[in-house]
Amino acid sequence: MTAPRGVAILGATGSIGKSALAVVRQHPDRFRPVVLTAHRNAEGLAALVEEYRPSLAVLADPSGASGVYSGGATRWASGREALLEAAAHPEVDVVLNALVGAAGLEPTLAALRAGKRVALANKESLVCGGPLVMRAAAEGGGELLPVDSEHSAIFQCLQGGRWGEVERLLITASGGPFRGFPPERLAAVTPGDALRHPTWDMGAKITIDSATLANKALEVIEAHFLFGVPYDRIQAVVHPQSIIHSMVEFVDGSVLAQMGFPTMEIPVLYALSYPERLPYESRRFDPVAAGTLTFEPVRAGCFRAFSLGVEAGKAGGTAPAVFNAANEVAVSAFLQGDLSFPGIAAAIENALSRWPGGEASTLDDVLRADAWARGVTQTFVRG
Ligand code: NAD
Ligand code: MG
Repeated sequence: MTAPRGVAILGATGSIGKSALAVVRQHPDRFRPVVLTAHRNAEGLAALVEEYRPSLAVLADPSGASGVYSGGATRWASGREALLEAAAHPEVDVVLNALVGAAGLEPTLAALRAGKRVALANKESLVCGGPLVMRAAAEGGGELLPVDSEHSAIFQCLQGGRWGEVERLLITASGGPFRGFPPERLAAVTPGDALRHPTWDMGAKITIDSATLANKALEVIEAHFLFGVPYDRIQAVVHPQSIIHSMVEFVDGSVLAQMGFPTMEIPVLYALSYPERLPYESRRFDPVAAGTLTFEPVRAGCFRAFSLGVEAGKAGGTAPAVFNAANEVAVSAFLQGDLSFPGIAAAIENALSRWPGGEASTLDDVLRADAWARGVTQTFVRG
């Protein structure tokens, strides 16, 4: 019997973190959580430490911790450096990066440089620092596997052909809760409306990104870097039932799709177990229950965060990092009631239109662009 793979779950208290723990629970002989991290939720992390007894527990921001956490077999640490240490921990084989936002970039780089497999849920790592992430993997010998359901689907479909045989990637989008809304209705939607996603149960930030379709732009950029496919051969299509998770068209015109009921547990399991497939207990697919599958074009004119994001991807350099940072600030302002729903795209456009551009050759280039876009967007929100 093979020894269990040591797993670090960065963001163990979040939505993907919970899916990952459900996966690990079904395969305790294959995966051992040796590192668990959270942002501020010390109590939530302490409960997980009690159950899984990892070697290391990290609180990225210890300011909210009310007590002293120590004792037992688990070492507790806190702060950004501890998060980077977690990503490169010697007992870890696979780092599941389930952090939210640009904060995920440096842990991804640290894990890849240390030669780890990174199961990447944190798409913002690739959006902000795509060239840096790919270079870190090449130099450190690390391996990048997708967790995002669309990219897991594409990764699985790509196994049906060879590298030069790919014609087009077709990324599906649910369309979010406001799919058919005219612009005047979009202007009046509230955070409560936007948080009610029709097909997926996820963290707050990605749920808002799904409502604006910024998420689909982030995913187009993510696919560009992960699979090395140019932007003119990546197409997003709305598929409201979220049954087909994405498709690959090959040069002969044959199209492969990967499908199933929406759950993040299967893509997480595959990123951990690859190249093997392991048995898994979950609701089995039933084509009759799935019913009719429909497709629509993305309404890029109404959902401007989508077109702005794809344009930033095509512009390259630090433009995607600016897009991402402006979006993060705008989403959090929208959730706090300080910005309207259309204000999110307006805030992104404001940042991108002022950004002079530049290469994303170093981490410093990316961090500078990120900080600049946050400042400019905070001013926009206040103004
Ligand atoms: P979430 O908000 O539910 O969880 C985020 C986790 O990261 C929490 O454990 C939190 O404590 C931690 N965290 C947040 N900010 C942090 C920071 N600055 N530093 C350190 N730790 C921090 O988010 P989620 O929905 O699980 O999403 C995680 C990532 O996975 C995102 O990049 C998202 O786009 C991606 N993703 C999520 C889903 C989903 O179904 N939830 C699907 C596909 C991709
Ligand atoms: Mg996705």
